[in-house]
Amino acid sequence: MKPIHLTRARAAGSASIVFKLALTSLIMALAVAPARVTQSPERPRSEDGYFQETIRVAPGVWTFAEPRFHVQPIGNVTLIEQADGLVLVDSGGSPGSARRLIAKIRRLSSKPVKAVIITHWHGDHTQGLAEILKAWPAARTIATKATQAHLRDRKTMNTPAVFEPSADDAFYKQNQGFLAYTQTMVEKAPDPASKAGWSAASRLFAQYAEDMRGAVTITTTEAFDDRLDIPDRRTPIEVRYLGRANTDGDAVVWLPKQRVLVVGDIVVAPVPFGFGSYPSEWMQTLETLRTYDFKVLVPGHGAPQQDGVYLARIAAAIGEVRSKIAPLVRQGVSLDDARKQLDFSNQAQGFVGADPWLRRWFKEYWIGPFLTSAYKEARGEPIVQSLTGE
Ligand SMILES: [Zn+2]
Repeated sequence: MKPIHLTRARAAGSASIVFKLALTSLIMALAVAPARVTQSPERPRSEDGYFQETIRVAPGVWTFAEPRFHVQPIGNVTLIEQADGLVLVDSGGSPGSARRLIAKIRRLSSKPVKAVIITHWHGDHTQGLAEILKAWPAARTIATKATQAHLRDRKTMNTPAVFEPSADDAFYKQNQGFLAYTQTMVEKAPDPASKAGWSAASRLFAQYAEDMRGAVTITTTEAFDDRLDIPDRRTPIEVRYLGRANTDGDAVVWLPKQRVLVVGDIVVAPVPFGFGSYPSEWMQTLETLRTYDFKVLVPGHGAPQQDGVYLARIAAAIGEVRSKIAPLVRQGVSLDDARKQLDFSNQAQGFVGADPWLRRWFKEYWIGPFLTSAYKEARGEPIVQSLTGE
């Protein structure tokens, strides 16, 4: 991936997330971890990347992004200025992150937010929406039909549609549990990279637990099938559904004049997310993305990119898993045995190098869940969107 050299505007204060589905391993570990939390847990440091940087990706287009990996994922948010108002792509991952985003947006432009496009249903992209609408109640909210339906479905989302004190307390307690678990892992970490990673994760969960107070899930007022345009003389916006990929309703945003392509979690760096994904269709969707003549590609997580190198790497990774799982499925090998037999260490090396902390999460967030999806697909079983990705 060619490093991007874009204007970094006024760093400080912004988004976080909610992405419970990525935390199945933590949830399992919690069953045995003591749920003790120190009195005043430390909060994120600037190098933790919890409060994302403002990156100007084109004239009138900014992304609030963070290049680093986070155990509790932090979804990018993109701000697009049109003549009569601002359009957001995604909403921040918590009410707290959305409040910080609102302050940043107001520093960049005095225009109102007139529309919010949600790329997919995962909480790290949607849990700030209610807060954004408190600031700009007249804003349109837009997603694909599948995403709109998930946002209405209490079984998919981890916060209710209307504030419920008991659910809020339960979620807070769960996050305190994650915090306690990450603190115990700091002590147990076998190497400096993992120790630093768990320390950053504990600071992140301390902030995230507070940021998620009062969170609710609201769905969008508008849904589209394949395309929706938001015209503007200088910065027209094309919203497209190109097929299933990371979820069953990933929206892509294309700015033809600026040649900026915002792709949600179809592309995530440095570690892609494999939960509940659609391997063969994801490959096709990536092929379609490669036909766009973009100057800047904004992933769902990680820094904006200026070439198709990383797109190609994800496509190759998907292809490798599919081609390795297919013969095992034909032989009737179980998923557990397939996991034991298959080795993806070269793939891990290509994405994250030798870093043991990132290697761990490459396995947990990418290979593990993606192998499940590829196995199901090879057997012709349905892949269902859910919090656990199972
Ligand atoms: Zn995400």
